[in-house]
Amino acid sequence: ATFGTLSDRLADTFKNLRTRGKLTASDVDGTVREIRRALLDADVALEVVKTFTGAVRERALGDEVNRALNPAQQVVQIVNEELIGILGGQQRRLEFAKNPPTVIMLAGLQGAGKTTLAGKLALHLKGEGHTPILVASDLQRPNAVNQLQVVAEQAGVAVFAPEPGNGVGDPVKVAKDGVAYAKQKQHDIVIVDTAGRLGVDADLMKQASDIRRAVNPDEVLFVIDAMIGQDAVATARAFQEGVDFTGVVLSKLDGDARGGAALSVASVTGRPIIFASTGEKLTEFEPFHPDRMASRILDLGDILTLIEQAQGAFDEEEARKVAEKFATDSFTLDDFLQQMQQLKKMGSLKGMLGMLPGARGMRDQLDNFDEREIVRTEAIIQSMTPAERRTPKLLNGSRRVRIAKGSGMTVTDVNQLVQRFEQASKMMKTVAKGGVPQIPGMGPI
Ligand code: GDP
Repeated sequence: ATFGTLSDRLADTFKNLRTRGKLTASDVDGTVREIRRALLDADVALEVVKTFTGAVRERALGDEVNRALNPAQQVVQIVNEELIGILGGQQRRLEFAKNPPTVIMLAGLQGAGKTTLAGKLALHLKGEGHTPILVASDLQRPNAVNQLQVVAEQAGVAVFAPEPGNGVGDPVKVAKDGVAYAKQKQHDIVIVDTAGRLGVDADLMKQASDIRRAVNPDEVLFVIDAMIGQDAVATARAFQEGVDFTGVVLSKLDGDARGGAALSVASVTGRPIIFASTGEKLTEFEPFHPDRMASRILDLGDILTLIEQAQGAFDEEEARKVAEKFATDSFTLDDFLQQMQQLKKMGSLKGMLGMLPGARGMRDQLDNFDEREIVRTEAIIQSMTPAERRTPKLLNGSRRVRIAKGSGMTVTDVNQLVQRFEQASKMMKTVAKGGVPQIPGMGPI
């Protein structure tokens, strides 16, 4: 996954740190040097790395660490805060026009994921009660208009496209007509897809900036492929000069990218990252939260996104009940099974588990994670008596042997399930009470 290697390297760095008590200047320098190397290897731009490590070093040598009970934890905390900073600090939401329609223009290189994003954004906004329409101003790529029509249909939103067979249309005119049409039909949001080239070129920039001038968008979103590597900074700068943009969308964050683009673009351009795209499906898309991304990178887990996704899939009442059960320690194996079944409905269990704190260390297990696991869990839990499901503490040795026999599993399988259940309840209980889960082996930060 994105940031996998970077995460692992940072985790190793912090692990080395953990064995020290008080930190000497040379411990700090060693740590900063490792962080610097890890970031450069992840394709983060040199200028960003320099600023980042400079800030971390200065703070790590300062009083806040010296006085801390656990200096290593304090360093992790500093790295976390600085990481949030280079990712843009606060979350920035989409801004809507006072007088609708809000016009959102998309810009970026060909293949960056603009057309896909148009569909994702439309679906997301529709879910919030808006009535978006897509406008096909990418007349460069032969199939682009058709592709936009396909994503519009998938998202269940309207599309404005030039009549086919009218020869090569004028993208600026299409954009203008599209906005006028949206006004007339009372769509409250217009998303204008524009053409990209494989590389930055003057024609592309001129066309994009002409469209920008013609439709006066409220937001110009620059879509950048997270896998673009070291080219990220130059591409972002070229678009900033050529068209200028109000926000960034990182696409393909699901790829095996080293993720440097993600960590460079906001701080180099001073423009916030507003959304992240994490797959080809229209639902694989999320508002970007710098703090959550930082904790994913540092493997502190992304509990908040996890909980939001869970809330999207369960109804709110249900989510509240579960949270209460966690907080009051009355979460049972029956609830556990039900949660697993619902997770399965949500789709990628692996993706969800990947957001749990410490999950990086479990990655091998996750990669081997088999959704048939749920079936096995079901078999085991169903072989328990109602009392055992309510009170797992009852599960002594002989009961476990009986359950293993009844479900056709081994006693080890049963033990593992009970252990997982206990870990999950413990962690969720902390979260439900508003606490921060612990980094395994390091205590809470
Ligand atoms: P455009 O040329 O900028 O409009 O880019 P497209 O939207 O056509 O996307 C180019 C390719 O990238 C398509 O094959 C998409 O399915 C794929 N794609 C777009 N966004 C994502 C993403 O977040 N993750 C992955 N894995 N693929 C994506």
